[in-house]
Amino acid sequence: MSAKTSVEKNIRGPSGFLEFGGQILVVDFGRIYHEGAAIGLLFDDGYLQHTSGLLGNHPKLRPIEALEGCVFRGIDSGGMELVLPEGERGPSGSLKFNGVLYHVINGRIAAPDHTLVGEFDDQGQVSIRDQRNKVPRRKLDENSQLSTVFDGKKSNGEAWKHEWVRPLVRRDKNYSDSEMIRYFMDYDKINGTQKKYLFENLRLWASTGLLQVVRRSEGNCALGNVKHGAAGQTGVRTGNVTLDREELDRDTEYYYKHGCFAAVYTRFKPFLEVRVNLVVAHEYGHQLEFCLSQACQERVKDLYHQRRQLSDKLPRPPEDYTGEAELVLQEMVAKRAFISGYARCSFHEYWAECVAAFSIKESRDFLQTHDPQVYEILMDVIFAPEKVLRPVLVEPILTLQASLRVGGEMHDKILDE
Ligand SMILES: [Zn+2]
Repeated sequence: MSAKTSVEKNIRGPSGFLEFGGQILVVDFGRIYHEGAAIGLLFDDGYLQHTSGLLGNHPKLRPIEALEGCVFRGIDSGGMELVLPEGERGPSGSLKFNGVLYHVINGRIAAPDHTLVGEFDDQGQVSIRDQRNKVPRRKLDENSQLSTVFDGKKSNGEAWKHEWVRPLVRRDKNYSDSEMIRYFMDYDKINGTQKKYLFENLRLWASTGLLQVVRRSEGNCALGNVKHGAAGQTGVRTGNVTLDREELDRDTEYYYKHGCFAAVYTRFKPFLEVRVNLVVAHEYGHQLEFCLSQACQERVKDLYHQRRQLSDKLPRPPEDYTGEAELVLQEMVAKRAFISGYARCSFHEYWAECVAAFSIKESRDFLQTHDPQVYEILMDVIFAPEKVLRPVLVEPILTLQASLRVGGEMHDKILDE
C-alpha cells in the first residue's frame, strides 16, 4: 500500500493497539499494521475499512463489533483516551441533535467524517466527548441536552423511535432562537423589527450558552416602564431586567438608522456623546457581570480606572456640564477613552457597554483595537469560561458548550457572523 488515496491521508484515525485473534496489532493514525504491512483502517468512531489479511478481506465499512473479540485501546486522532468497543452495546440508527444529523453505530455517535462525537444508549441518554477540554464523557441533562430525535433500533434489534424536547421551548425553533425567546418574556408583544433587533443583540450569547447560564443564574428580561428616563434597568435584588418600551423603540430605530454606534450632539456643543445602540445586550451585560469571578470583576475595575485616567486627559466639556458621561469633540471621536460616553459613568456601565459592543461584529471589531484588554476578557467569557466565570458556573457552561458544539450552535466562525 504505497500510494495512499487522499481519503486515507485525511482520515480521523486513532493510534494504539488492536487485539484480535490472540495477536496485538499496531494502529498508527488509523492504519492497522501486521508484521509491518498495512492491513486496514480504523476510524475514531469504531468503523473498519479496507481490511485484509487476518482481519479478513473487506473493502467496505463495518463496525469493530463485526470482528468478534476485537478490542482497540489507545488514543483518538485528537489525543484523547479511546477504547473500542467500550461498555454495553447501544442502539444504531440516525440521530438529529438540534437538527444536526449524526449516525449512531452500536451506541457511538459518529459524524460524517468519522469523528466520535459521543454516546447514546438504549434509554436515550446522551453523553458528549468533549475534545476541547479532553473530557471523554460529559453526560447531558435537561439543561444541557438539545432537542434529540432518534430513528433506528435498540441494541437488541427492536425498532425504536425516540424524541426528546427541551422543557418550555418551542419545538419548531433551534436552541438559540428558543433560548432568546425564553429569555425575553414579552417576545410575543414586540414587532418584527424589534424581534430582529433582539436576536442581533443576543445571538452570540445564546449560541455559546452564556445566555442560558445567565438566565438561570440571574434572571430574564421583560418590557416595562422604567422611571428616570433610563433605557433599562437590572434589578439588584431579583437580577431581572426591565426594558423600557419606548426606549426599546428608540434604540431599535437608532440601530437600524445609524448602526451600532452613533455620535450625537449634546446641548454642550461642540461636544458629542458616542452611544452604543444595543440596549438589550447592555442590560444583559449587567446580569453577566454577576456571573464573573471576583478576580475577573477586579480586573474589569482596574481597566475602568485606567480608562478614566485616559478620559481625564481629553479636552474637558464646559464647566456647567455636571454629568458623568464622556463628551468628546468631533476630531477626538476615534481617540475617545471609552467605547461610549455612558461607559464612563461607573465600572458597571463600562462593563455593560463593552458587553453590548462585543455582541455585534462591527462594534466588536472596533472594541478589539480600541480596548484590547477588555476584549480579551470577553473572549475568555465565551471561549475559556473556566478562567473568568464564578467557579460554580464553570462545569455547567463547559458541559453546555460541549453540547452546543455538537448541536452546531457553537462553531469556529461564530465571531465572523
Ligand atoms: Zn446600564
